[in-house]
Amino acid sequence: MERAWRSFRRRSLSKEDAPRSPSRYAHSPKFLKRPEAMTKSSLFLAAALVALPAFASAQAPKVSPAVRAVHDAAIVLDTHFDTPALFSRPGWDIADRHAVDKDGSQVDLPRMIDGGVDGGFFAIYTPQGPRTKAGDDAARAAALVRAVEIREMLVKHADKFELATTADDAARIVKKGKRFAYMSIENAYPLAGDPGMLDTFYALGVRLVGFAHFKNNDFADSATDKPEWGGLSPKGKDLLAEMNRLGVVPDPSHSSDQVLEQVIELSKTPVILSHSGVRAVFDHPRNAPDALLKKLAEKGGVIQINAFSAYMIAPPPPNPERDKALGGLMAKFGARNKMTEAQVVQLVAERRALLAKYPVPRAGIDDLMAHLLYALKLVGPDHVGISGDFDGGGGVDGYDSIIDPPSVTERLLKAGYSKDDIAKIWGGNVLRVLRETEAYVASQKAAAPPAPAVSH
Ligand SMILES: [Zn+2]
Repeated sequence: MERAWRSFRRRSLSKEDAPRSPSRYAHSPKFLKRPEAMTKSSLFLAAALVALPAFASAQAPKVSPAVRAVHDAAIVLDTHFDTPALFSRPGWDIADRHAVDKDGSQVDLPRMIDGGVDGGFFAIYTPQGPRTKAGDDAARAAALVRAVEIREMLVKHADKFELATTADDAARIVKKGKRFAYMSIENAYPLAGDPGMLDTFYALGVRLVGFAHFKNNDFADSATDKPEWGGLSPKGKDLLAEMNRLGVVPDPSHSSDQVLEQVIELSKTPVILSHSGVRAVFDHPRNAPDALLKKLAEKGGVIQINAFSAYMIAPPPPNPERDKALGGLMAKFGARNKMTEAQVVQLVAERRALLAKYPVPRAGIDDLMAHLLYALKLVGPDHVGISGDFDGGGGVDGYDSIIDPPSVTERLLKAGYSKDDIAKIWGGNVLRVLRETEAYVASQKAAAPPAPAVSH
């Protein structure tokens, strides 16, 4: 289960570390071998290499009252928060204010309020481990624990957050002055041992499930691994059918193009790419090609544009001296889930000093806008949204924590998008998909033959 790595990565500034190479390398033997070949220390190093912000404002961006009014009129959500990985860190609480340049965290209640963000999808992320009975069991246990941690956060802060499971819940919860929390799964690996567990996760609140992560699994090929199934496996197709039956939105982010195409074709309900970019803007296997984005939109789906630097600009050239220094730093601190908040702050500061010595390029809000505006032109404002991939390695200069969304609203207005378009982009499109999913489930129930009468 790559325990040390997993626990490091959960607290790391980068979860999305491995597939840093652009897609021109994606099908080269070197790239394909890379995830398997990576040692623990090289994984640490890859995580450490993620560029730090040139600056990170602790304040919400200054926008005009007119821009803020448009922003506040929308239900604003993000479809991929990796923040649940922090819920078990000693001393870390989502109700407290944090700063990305201090402890690296990107989502909390005070900053959601500053950024005019009403809620989001809190992810149950499981890194891909061994595809064995022991691996499957461990993945299921870890995902159940994470689901419980999310539910416990919601109980602890019941006056501030509330679980959302239907499209209408978002507005209902916002009206109460609270933030809504949908639950999602990133990597269906925890379901490998028993796909019937999807029922259980649905009962716990999960409404969006991603098939794979960095590596292939029993359900699907990963965008960053060598093709194994040619898309979805037979078990993956069954899982998709079960998602449709229950009313869970399929999420092919991290899955291969073939998976994306098959999910769009086979799904009875619209598909959401919860955090993905546009390949025409930057050539990387984690980004989606135009033809599939068009198909996604034709079937009512939505791409939530990711703010992840390594998928937006070319990686830095190798620098053994820098890599050695960063590797040493990571080894010194070890697993971040074992660290106190003070140690995390120290690590972030030391890492910052090192990267000041060995600068690594980092994408900025203009790169994010390039992906966003391209997708909007390609498929229109009914099929595009935004996800920062916060607390999972996401964030670019100028869009680096949940306080920054008003900056995007300002730029969308400048680009000519209307208040209504912006409301769809920030949350309306995702809620529309949830609503259509619910309508499909209801229609199937209405069409089903009546259940046999129970006799005694
Ligand atoms: Zn991800």
